[in-house]
Amino acid sequence: MLEKLLIICCYFNYHPKIRLIEVKMGFGPTGKTEKVECIVCKKIYIRGNNNINPIIILIVIILFLLFILFF
Ligand SMILES: [Zn+2]
Repeated sequence: MLEKLLIICCYFNYHPKIRLIEVKMGFGPTGKTEKVECIVCKKIYIRGNNNINPIIILIVIILFLLFILFF
């Protein structure tokens, strides 16, 4: 049940469970970048300084609750 919710989060490009693979120190405004692997969907991606908007996560949770109610 909870894992399904996590996969939905992954679908919206928010990976709740990640494992750090590599950290690269950069220069300038970009700063450091982190290479991380998502434990849920096994996707490897670069995580920069841009944080995802928490409102998106809230919307995902609401959608999931609606999904449970209708099915
Ligand atoms: Zn993921």
